[in-house]
Amino acid sequence: MRHVAIIGSGPAGYYTAEACQKTFGDAVRIDIIDRLPVPFGLIRSGVAPDHQSIKHVSRRYEAVALTDNVRFVGNVTIGDQVSIDELLDLYDAVVLATGAPADRPLDIPGAELPGVVGSAAFVGWYNGHPDHEALAPALDGPGAVVIGNGNVALDVARILAKTEAELAGSDIVAHALDGLRRHAINRVTILGRRGPHQIAMTPKELGELGQLERAAPRVDRADFPPVEADDALDPGQRKSVTLLREFAAHPAAKPIEIVFDFFARPLAIEGDGRVERVVVERTELDAEGRAQGTGDTYAVPAGLVVSCIGYRTSPIPGVPYDTRAGRFANDEGRIAPGLYAVGWARRGPTGTIGTNRPDGFLIAEHLAEDLPDDSGKTGRAGLDALLSARGVDVVTFRDWQLIDKAEIGRARAGAPREKFTSIETLLSARGEQ
Ligand SMILES: Cc1cc2nc3c(=O)[nH]c(=O)nc-3n(C[C@H](O)[C@H](O)[C@H](O)COP(=O)(O)OP(=O)(O)OC[C@H]3O[C@@H](n4cnc5c(N)ncnc54)[C@H](O)[C@@H]3O)c2cc1C
Repeated sequence: MRHVAIIGSGPAGYYTAEACQKTFGDAVRIDIIDRLPVPFGLIRSGVAPDHQSIKHVSRRYEAVALTDNVRFVGNVTIGDQVSIDELLDLYDAVVLATGAPADRPLDIPGAELPGVVGSAAFVGWYNGHPDHEALAPALDGPGAVVIGNGNVALDVARILAKTEAELAGSDIVAHALDGLRRHAINRVTILGRRGPHQIAMTPKELGELGQLERAAPRVDRADFPPVEADDALDPGQRKSVTLLREFAAHPAAKPIEIVFDFFARPLAIEGDGRVERVVVERTELDAEGRAQGTGDTYAVPAGLVVSCIGYRTSPIPGVPYDTRAGRFANDEGRIAPGLYAVGWARRGPTGTIGTNRPDGFLIAEHLAEDLPDDSGKTGRAGLDALLSARGVDVVTFRDWQLIDKAEIGRARAGAPREKFTSIETLLSARGEQ
């Protein structure tokens, strides 16, 4: 028997469990340990609440979770309640699938002013992540600035722009819906250091901005290279750029403007006790395609700044960390004997949910090469003894099913669920049935 502990119950964790099942059949026991009392990582707390069809991927993880040789062990923080060395003593392999939950710091003067938030916090707030329940972002407008040119920036702009009716059928949490319902933001400016050809935005997410009830995108025609230059782009990117060109050609007048401010680098955030404006420098591309400041500056008024500039894996004591890359130091997923990394914790915050699947299979291949058939380690029995001795209140997959049922039961009409947003309410929801 092989005993595997996977730390993190997001896509990378479940794909790794699925790959281990396929590789070892019944000759493996897998514990998926998560610091939260709920599974599925960013599927629950990152993917936009109005993108329910994407969240359905969790059904696939549920099928893995409900098999006999996989267990969910929630409400247990590795590196805090249990150390990596302790896990390595108990399991043949420890696979870190802890994602990249920390915002990359926005390293400019004024970034610490009230009103400036990272996207992990802002997205976590509207998606019910217990860490960000108390965020209370400044929504009194009139301007909001979103820094970054990826899909997360689009998610943030879209959620700020949608009406309550447009958010019906989503699982946005009640406190966020309440705040957004009353917000006074009439302009969301998306800042990108480079131009339309360099965006990391996909056509589906961009296209949605053209369909909003009270908001319309605004793009400056002068930001585009000649249309023939689009031929060199890959098809997906060409589609995205074509959408931007359409937005530029057919500007619509609606109460909220979503302004794409390209070739714009934030230099500083200013305000008296809270953010009031972002000072921006106009850029141009050098021969290598890098953004270079031109010295031409201007201010964008803003009561809220959301930086969507990437994420970092949180370090865990005893695990080698690549500070520059912001993830665990690893060689194709191998960190040290018995210790592996997968998903965002291995390769950084890029790619789609599906990109984590081959990652999981790569780790299963490593395990097949590296692990003995039977090392005699105790695996889950040893973990249970340790957690019980420490008085840890463990959440099982059965408990999660009760929480799930309670959330679905209290949902608004038409909404898939009404999430509990604190650890306490999540834990007490186990007893509500
Ligand atoms: C805002 C946002 C929107 C996105 N939207 C989409 C989308 O629409 N479509 C798409 O394809 N992709 C989307 N993605 C990308 C997708 O969510 C990621 O590819 C995927 O979630 C990464 O999986 P992961 O398992 O590596 O990390 P995560 O999903 O972050 O899972 C990590 C898990 O580890 C747990 N954990 C962390 N530290 C510890 C610890 N010390 N002890 C125990 N547990 C721990 C966490 O609680 C979490 O459950 C989005 C990402 C973001 C940030």
